[in-house]
Amino acid sequence: MLTKQEIIAEAQRLKFADIGFTGAEPFASQNEYLLAHQEEYGWAEAIGLNLIAATDPRNIFPAAKSIIVLLESYFEESFPQQMERHFGRCYLDDDRVTKDRLALRIKAFRKFLQANGIDSAVPFNVPHRLSAARAGLGTFGKNCLFYSRRAARGSSFVFPIAVVVDQEFAADEPDISIGCPDWCRNACVAACPTRALRGDGKIDPRRCISFLTYYGAGLTPLELREPMGLYVYGCDRCQNVCPRNTNRIMEEKPQNPRVAVKSPDFDLSLLLHMDKSYFVQKIWPHMFYMSADDIWRWKMNVARAMGNSLNPAYVADLIRAFKENSDERVRSMIAWALGRIGNSEAMAALEMFSKDNSGAVLDEIRQAVKSSVKKS
Ligand code: SF4
Ligand code: SF4
Repeated sequence: MLTKQEIIAEAQRLKFADIGFTGAEPFASQNEYLLAHQEEYGWAEAIGLNLIAATDPRNIFPAAKSIIVLLESYFEESFPQQMERHFGRCYLDDDRVTKDRLALRIKAFRKFLQANGIDSAVPFNVPHRLSAARAGLGTFGKNCLFYSRRAARGSSFVFPIAVVVDQEFAADEPDISIGCPDWCRNACVAACPTRALRGDGKIDPRRCISFLTYYGAGLTPLELREPMGLYVYGCDRCQNVCPRNTNRIMEEKPQNPRVAVKSPDFDLSLLLHMDKSYFVQKIWPHMFYMSADDIWRWKMNVARAMGNSLNPAYVADLIRAFKENSDERVRSMIAWALGRIGNSEAMAALEMFSKDNSGAVLDEIRQAVKSSVKKS
């Protein structure tokens, strides 16, 4: 039987940032919270995430006796500004589809356990952050994120990985508290543009930009378009303003070469005009929450970000994309974006589009012209 020390040594050899141990008993408070907030989390059950069932690890892995929590630090290297501007950092070097980096290290860790008689599972829906807190690896922030205690310079730029095992290990001292300093005046809550954070360490996920960019239903409501800013997929605003993250954000880091190489593929103009084949080959392997059938949402998000950039250089792209897209949600957002940029070229295009469009798209065009005229 392996000792904890031997397991810790293997995690360190595999370059995990930290490791902790907790029991496999149910996450009762999480279960209660989810059941009481189904209006906010019902969507997760509807798309098959089974969050409620996974609050008892034995529902997923009946032999579960302990949870070994590995911590991965994902912001050790810097990312191109063009990528950080539009995409959440945690998605930039995500290998959950390509399975060629972190996935290999998790596999090696599980193989090590298996070679020593320990069966394991890594269920995606066991509460990872709560597992990490129960294993004493850090504390929560009022932005609902998990902050490392010893690794990643105390920042929230970590993924907890819950490895459920069929052998019992002594649990580490849990800490499920919020570890924010008293002097921080809730910077994350104030900075959240869509008011998703409630200030008590809880979030309304339906208002979070991350959720809205990949699961938002239909055309983004007018009142959220400007607050969602330049983000196309994910959002890091509440982490960027957090003083607990300053050290990690400000330090000099070598550039992440993989993200630098793929960065040109994520150029906004290319994304706005991409076809399904481009999406499947270049984008989906790295950011996969939306399938090729949801390519309209990618384009709608890109058009909104272009509009919010107020950059006249995007007007030609937006005009071209209006002509090449039949999807009303994309066309409507393009009309809004042209009105938001509002230069003479954009206004002339809106005038032209108003002549041969009808229904919801025409309403958006008229609204875009009206708001733009009001501003000038
Ligand atoms: S990720 Fe963005 S939208 Fe979501 S809570 Fe943080 S600041 Fe708000
Ligand atoms: S911004 Fe302040 S309140 Fe929010 S998580 Fe960071 S330290 Fe906590």
